[in-house]
Amino acid sequence: MKPAPFEYRRPETVEEVIHLLAEYGDEAKLLAGGQSLIPTMNFRLAQPAMLIDLNTVEGLDGLDAGDDGSLRMGAMVRQAMAEKSALVAERVPLLAETLPYVAHAQIRNRGTIGGNLAHADPRSELPAVMLALAASVTVRGPDGERSIGARDFFAGFFETALEEGELLTEVVLPPAVEGGGQAFLEVSRRLGDYAMVGVAASVVCDGAGRCDQASIALLSVGSRPMLAERASACLVGERPSRATVVAAGHAAGNQDIDPPADMHASVAYRRRLATVLVRRALTTAFERAGCVIGEGAS
Ligand SMILES: Cc1cc2nc3c(=O)[nH]c(=O)nc-3n(C[C@H](O)[C@H](O)[C@H](O)COP(=O)(O)OP(=O)(O)OC[C@H]3O[C@@H](n4cnc5c(N)ncnc54)[C@H](O)[C@@H]3O)c2cc1C
Repeated sequence: MKPAPFEYRRPETVEEVIHLLAEYGDEAKLLAGGQSLIPTMNFRLAQPAMLIDLNTVEGLDGLDAGDDGSLRMGAMVRQAMAEKSALVAERVPLLAETLPYVAHAQIRNRGTIGGNLAHADPRSELPAVMLALAASVTVRGPDGERSIGARDFFAGFFETALEEGELLTEVVLPPAVEGGGQAFLEVSRRLGDYAMVGVAASVVCDGAGRCDQASIALLSVGSRPMLAERASACLVGERPSRATVVAAGHAAGNQDIDPPADMHASVAYRRRLATVLVRRALTTAFERAGCVIGEGAS
């Protein structure tokens, strides 16, 4: 298939992009890596009259270390660039660990961090990582700049909190916390396929070896990535043990999620995957946090 006819602009500044978005409204689409947008245009599922190319816009591809230990990533940072970055590996190891699961190397060479988040595919890995780490995105539009927490950004099925006329410019990942550990796991039919279920887990243990924070984000279990709150409640304030980790997995798979069935997996299989993956990811995350997992109840 070929796309429907469209006009094309290559702005050089964010201000020009905002101007064009205001002029063309919902007739316009932003082009980042094109790895999701171009196929949908080729199938004519998207037929924008105006394509605004972000690839020539200055200042959107920075990878910067904040003085407070945070990491700031421009929306146009390629997934492959983040994957290979020593700074990302040092500051946000969970992101470095997860990126190889996103599609294939060829797609990651063009696909961007911002495009992936703005696309808001409920099967995507990066939104779950952003949720688990309580990251935020910076967006700019006609009324200026605002910051949106990941929890509020992913609003629904392929839907974000971006308002008309806004673009995502940056992602901010908070500094690592002492006593913290994370892990990512997913199951897909083949490496590079979208996952049937995936989990990004982040835990923090206090000096006494108790779980202080637990943030468990799941993907491919509903219309958007979600935090498994009941699973977290099994852990916070407790000394991690086999029993609490098993309870958290059980809560995630059976209480937190209401997964769909599709040609790849039944509801029961998704629940089982979530149960097992949450348990395994938490075990690894606690080990990385330097927290001893006891055998029995806490
Ligand atoms: C075969 C295949 C397999 C894939 N497998 C996976 C996978 O396993 N996991 C996964 O997560 N992804 C997967 N993807 C998607 C891939 O990660 C894409 O790169 C990503 O979804 C979109 O990024 P992009 O930069 O290419 O964005 P584009 O395709 O250019 O844009 C996607 C959407 O976001 C909008 N947009 C882009 N940038 C911005 C911005 N800065 N502000 C506001 N809106 C913006 C666009 O207008 C468009 O609507 C796969 C893609 C393919 C083709």
